[in-house]
Amino acid sequence: MKLVLFDIDGTLLDSGGAGSMALNAAFRELFPAWETGLRGTGSRGTGSPFDGIRMGGKTDTEIVMEAMNKHGIEADGKIPVFMDAYVRHLKVQIGIFNPARRLKPGVREALNALDIMEGVALGLLTGNIEEGARIKLEPFGLNGYFPLGAFGSDSADRNSLLPVALERFNQNWQSGQNWQSGQNWQSGQNWQSGQNWQSGQNWQSGRAGKKQKLTPSDCIVVGDTPRDVECAKIHGAHSVAVATGGYTAAELLNTEADHVLEDMGDTGLFLNCLELV
Ligand SMILES: [Mg+2]
Repeated sequence: MKLVLFDIDGTLLDSGGAGSMALNAAFRELFPAWETGLRGTGSRGTGSPFDGIRMGGKTDTEIVMEAMNKHGIEADGKIPVFMDAYVRHLKVQIGIFNPARRLKPGVREALNALDIMEGVALGLLTGNIEEGARIKLEPFGLNGYFPLGAFGSDSADRNSLLPVALERFNQNWQSGQNWQSGQNWQSGQNWQSGQNWQSGQNWQSGRAGKKQKLTPSDCIVVGDTPRDVECAKIHGAHSVAVATGGYTAAELLNTEADHVLEDMGDTGLFLNCLELV
């Protein structure tokens, strides 16, 4: 069994700036003094509050705290309020037609191929808070591919997210729930690492009742930034980097990524890189 964990922004899709516009709108709403420069600290009401903050690979909380810090605002206790405002603005932004909002090349084909592949489960590993992630995926109908995941709402530290996704998967798997839509998981079934999950055989052994939990080495993280690679490698997971976000293939080759692709346009090549078999 393998768990393929996808990043969202720059990997699955381009939100056409909806995320950053919503962050800016939330900041302006909550800190109106910033516009007029009344705070007198940091940069003042020119440009946008998040100008100069590189968002790729960071968690939403990390990005917001960075902006507050930049503008001399105490983040203490304000993050949940900020995220509520952000979600509200994100829903508005996503509702506005924007031709720049699109899936990255080959994403739908890759997800369709993985979705019907036995022995493969899909999940999210993203810096987006979960509600934001769901809002961004919704227009493309992608939420159904990803019943679970780990999100920026689980931790501000992306490097701590892989164990969260894994734990969530193992808990659901252990409880006998279907992890993946369409996959018929029988809760009474024994399964041991190394056995051929794809054959669907119901294997009997002396270890009855004990299911093998997935470990980080059973995970492949797909993302577009060095941070995606790091959050996988730090736990011993595999990593496939795609140059469809803010980093070039050459830059991603300088990371510990197991494979670097320009994009997911070639489904066969992408699946090969996942090394699922
Ligand atoms: Mg990304």
